[in-house]
Amino acid sequence: PGADASIGGMSATRASGTNAVRYGTMRENVLGLTVVLADGRVIKTGTRARKSSAGYDLTRLFVGSEGTLGVIVEITVRLYPQPEAVSAAVCAFPSMGDAVRATIETIQMGVPVARVEFLDSLAVRAINRHSNLTFRESPMLFFEFHGTESSVKEQAETVQEIVAQNNGTDFEWATRPEDRSRLWNARHNAYFAMLQLKPGSRAVTTDVCVPISRLAECVIETEQDLNASTLPCPIVGHVGDGNFHVAMLLDPAKPEEFEEAERINHRIVQRALRMGGTCTGEHGVGLHKMGFMIEEHGEDAISVMRSIKHALDPKNLMNPGKIFSYDA
Ligand SMILES: Cc1cc2nc3c(=O)[nH]c(=O)nc-3n(C[C@H](O)[C@H](O)[C@H](O)COP(=O)(O)OP(=O)(O)OC[C@H]3O[C@@H](n4cnc5c(N)ncnc54)[C@H](O)[C@@H]3O)c2cc1C
Repeated sequence: PGADASIGGMSATRASGTNAVRYGTMRENVLGLTVVLADGRVIKTGTRARKSSAGYDLTRLFVGSEGTLGVIVEITVRLYPQPEAVSAAVCAFPSMGDAVRATIETIQMGVPVARVEFLDSLAVRAINRHSNLTFRESPMLFFEFHGTESSVKEQAETVQEIVAQNNGTDFEWATRPEDRSRLWNARHNAYFAMLQLKPGSRAVTTDVCVPISRLAECVIETEQDLNASTLPCPIVGHVGDGNFHVAMLLDPAKPEEFEEAERINHRIVQRALRMGGTCTGEHGVGLHKMGFMIEEHGEDAISVMRSIKHALDPKNLMNPGKIFSYDA
């Protein structure tokens, strides 16, 4: 995730990186925690065993609790071996719909891609300028494959076929580490590259996540919505997870641009919820998305969350005012 993320912050927000499509998010990768509670008790959750049926899953309760239930001070994570072989690929598409459909088919075919990231044409322009690259300025997918030499080759060939059937072109393969890191560094710097599309701007970033089967529909409707906006709005997506970010670039001195970004954000979240998705795939609720919580979960589920908060933190000491209001 974000360049300066700490492992405590990642656990607290249930974060994920570009390789979550294969390896999961912090939800799957935290095995146990040590947590300091509001009353000073120190508890351990989980064990190092691969599985357990012993009682409530407190690890999962604290992962994603955004510091509202306790301070996480120790984290046991799952480790993975380095894959024997890694290869990367990029390709361009005539439309966002084609790129997203290629992703959906790849996931639905069960190809175990390690990463599949989407950039729209504006985001590609940004990384071209920022990282001195010459990609065609059209929607793109970045792939990475992990496995043995033969399984990586097999995955790559299957994906290449799916991409061709969805009008993908400009296939570029990279197996040497330096070529792979050139491609992925450009992707990782995309946020900072996008800010340079409008010097002096700040980005309001959306974070919706929808079921993969609704992703194409959601992205296409969002694209139509953004076409009517005066703000530059590049899109990047962890599309293998159904999660995408619109970075709305606004002038911080112009409140009307902030209001425009808020209106767009609201419509994007409503669309995602209508499609069975969530207002936040990985960044967390904080203050900004509190207004969507009842619509996403329902009054009763929020009141259960509130009961847990009241039981563990009756004086409302831990990150007060975040996720939902303490009093109904
Ligand atoms: C350019 C950019 C790219 C990003 N990309 C991603 C991405 O790909 N995936 C992703 O998931 N996120 C991404 N993010 C969001 C952000 O990086 C993540 O949410 C990250 O996990 C936050 O970690 P942090 O250490 O910065 O936490 P902070 O922002 O400091 O804290 C986040 C919340 O967790 C609480 N908290 C922090 N530490 C603890 C602790 N030890 N115990 C209890 N509560 C705690 C804080 O109180 C706060 O409520 C991105 C952000 C930026 C700016």
